[in-house]
Amino acid sequence: MPTDTTALWQGGWYRFARRLESPNHGQQPDGALIDLIVIHSISLPPGEFGTGKVQQLFTNTLDWDEHPYFQGIRGLQVSSHFFISREGALWQFVSCDERAWHAGESSYRGRTQCNDDSIGIELEGLEGNSFEAAQYETLSDLCASLVQAYPVAHIAGHEHIAPGRKNDPGAGFNWPALRQSLALPSQCFPSNT
Ligand SMILES: [Zn+2]
Repeated sequence: MPTDTTALWQGGWYRFARRLESPNHGQQPDGALIDLIVIHSISLPPGEFGTGKVQQLFTNTLDWDEHPYFQGIRGLQVSSHFFISREGALWQFVSCDERAWHAGESSYRGRTQCNDDSIGIELEGLEGNSFEAAQYETLSDLCASLVQAYPVAHIAGHEHIAPGRKNDPGAGFNWPALRQSLALPSQCFPSNT
């Protein structure tokens, strides 16, 4: 995407996000068609909000010895393009013109390795539980801006692109609310949402 397409985006960075660069990224394959948004949920430690630990995880600055749960993910190098706090605050870690490490082994709309050609958005939350109105507001604005800038044709959860292996964001995520606020055709969403 040319950097001057719109003031909202510059080199794949979103104007309304706090930029906190992650080293965990790489190049998208040549000609990658960025047509998928993947929605996740995360909190560190699980169920605790506003700790700043997700930001630390994505920037490889988390102290693994600080909490027993972190022992189980020690050394993990991951990232997402975006993270939305419970208050609806938005962080960006990787340019949307680069490949973030959020999906893992995955397959959707007939293609595998979804990290190659998707945008990852993490919502602060506990898998299966509900999310805050402020998060839906930020998510909806972000998705609308992504739809303008990229050829987005699909929005799915991690649970839909890695079924059986991943369960986030889970049953507490309100798909109809997102669908309505974006006014995208139902084919853009997983059939069971
Ligand atoms: Zn996930």
